[in-house]
This record gives sequence, structure tokens and C-alpha cells, in this order.
Amino acid sequence: RATGRGTWSIYHPEMSQVAAYRHWIEAELGGALQRDELMLHYQPKVHAVTGETVGYEALLRWNHHQNGSIPPSEFIPIAEQCGLIQQIGDFVLRRVCEDLEQLPDNISVSANVSPAQFNRDDFVANLGRLINGTEIRPDRLEIEVTETLLIRNHSEVRRLLAQLRELGILLAIDDFGTGYSNLSTLNELRFNTLKIDKSFVDRLTDKDPAASTMVASIVGMARSMGASVVAEGVETQEQATLLRAAGCTIMQGYLFGKPQPLSAIKHHHRDSEAG
Ligand code: C2E
Ligand code: CA
Ligand code: CA
Ligand code: CA
Repeated sequence: RATGRGTWSIYHPEMSQVAAYRHWIEAELGGALQRDELMLHYQPKVHAVTGETVGYEALLRWNHHQNGSIPPSEFIPIAEQCGLIQQIGDFVLRRVCEDLEQLPDNISVSANVSPAQFNRDDFVANLGRLINGTEIRPDRLEIEVTETLLIRNHSEVRRLLAQLRELGILLAIDDFGTGYSNLSTLNELRFNTLKIDKSFVDRLTDKDPAASTMVASIVGMARSMGASVVAEGVETQEQATLLRAAGCTIMQGYLFGKPQPLSAIKHHHRDSEAG
């Protein structure tokens, strides 16, 4: 990968290293779709008490033919800025729907949707066509949006969310607690799931009781709104124990499983059916 970046900085001596890398990503990303270099990995969400897998989050992976794996934290923001997020987002949602057909009926999948994608006029209509073109129940699909979305174009967002609800597709607020959103806004939007950001989970230790109190109050708030709570980025048993004590019902993190290709998770379900 270093060679790739280096090459570009020679071709564009006026650009900083960072700008050159951005330029490279932008130039390669269109081709990534054509070359079929993008794929989804699925990370399990498990029930806090039974330990059963209840669903997965779809996470995008880019395996560049020369430079290998490029993380979404690097290419998604660039895709959002250059407009390629539309095509990439379409790919993700289409693939998630196809993959849902290959998973057991009681398993749901959530997909991350960028604000730029969500704000398009035809987003909900396209999603509706997509889900209705399959045999899967719409409530097996959940859309994850960040709080950032909620503070923009308020009435427009509300209208879109109502349409989404009408389709029966579920809605999750991602990275909850990292952005600004007031209680009445959240209440009004009637989302189905609240995902507690990893930064809160990271703070959970016996030595920081304030962190537990914080999580418990988020759980209580979600419950009063009829939403379920997913804690993300759970890495240790201690965190899991404290999350259970705080009333969190669903957990996601390396402690329970890393994101894996569809083939691997399908295998897991076939095994548990057989056994
Ligand atoms: P996110 O939606 O908050 O996803 C959670 C990230 O945390 C994922 O990183 C996941 O692999 C990672 N993670 C999960 N459990 C643990 C853990 O126990 N410890 C640690 N350290 N990390 C954990 P990933 O896959 O690199 O994705 C990063 C971000 O890229 C995502 O954050 C999301 O904002 C974005 N992203 C990924 N896929 C898509 C996509 O299909 N569309 C859009 N628009 N954004 C995506
Ligand atoms: Ca997410
Ligand atoms: Ca998240
Ligand atoms: Ca995040």
C-alpha cells in the first residue's frame, strides 16, 4: 500500500500525502464496484441473557486488487464527498436483501446508511421496491443512521422516517450518545433500536460507576420509548456483565464475534440447526 501512495505523491507533487491518498481512493473507488472488490462482512448481535445470535450488522469491506484491504473509515467519508456513496449504498442494500434470503427467518440484518444516501428523494421508494421484490419480511431489515441525520432537515427527515415505518423496515440510531439530539426529537421519530456507542462501553469498568449509571439511564430512556438497546464494541466479560446489570438486552463486539463473510455465518446457522 505504501508504494501505491508513494507513486501518487510523485505524480502529484503539489499535493500533500493525505490529499494524494484521497485522490487515489476517489479514482479507485468507481473501479472497485466494477471489479467486484467490495463485499459485506456480518458481525453478530447476541442476546445479553441467552447468548443467542439474533441478527447481524452488515459492514462493508474493500479488498483492492493491488493494495489489499482498505477500511471503511477511510473510504466511506470520501465516497460521501465525491457522490459515489449512492452507488455503494445501493450495492450494500441490494446485497443485504439477497443475503437475508439465505439466512434463517428469525435472523435480522442491519445496514449502515449515510445521510447523503438517506436524503435522496428516491431513497425510500427504491428501498421499498427492493424489499418488496424479495420474499423477506421487511422487519428483518434495519437501517442504521447516525444522530447527525436527526439535526438536519428536520421535517424532511421525519417524513422519510414515517415512510420507512410504513414499509415495515426498522430503524436504528447508530453511535448514540456521540451527537446532539434532544429527547423530544428522539421520541417523535419512534426508532426501533438505539445503539450505544463504543465510547460508552469502553468506559465500563468496576472502577467507573458513573459509566454504568450513564448506560442504565440510556437503557431506561430507550425502554420508555419502546426501543431496544444494542451495545456496540463489547470486548470484555467485565463490560458484558456491567451491560447486563444496566439492563442492556443485545450486545455486539469482538467478545461475541468479529465481522465475517456470509459463507461463515451461514455455516454457523447450518451447524446449530443440525445440532
Ligand atoms: P459503525 O457503524 O459504528 O460500525 C462499528 C465498527 O466497529 C465497525 O468497524 C466494526 O467492525 C467495529 N467493531 C465492532 N466490534 C468491535 C469491538 O469489539 N472492538 C473494536 N475495536 N471495534 C469493533 P468497521 O467495519 O471498520 O466500520 C467503520 C465504520 O464505517 C462504521 O462504523 C460505519 O460508520 C462505516 N461503515 C461500514 N460499512 C458501511 C456501509 O455499508 N455503509 C456506510 N454508509 N457506512 C459503513
Ligand atoms: Ca453501524
Ligand atoms: Ca456504531
Ligand atoms: Ca461508529
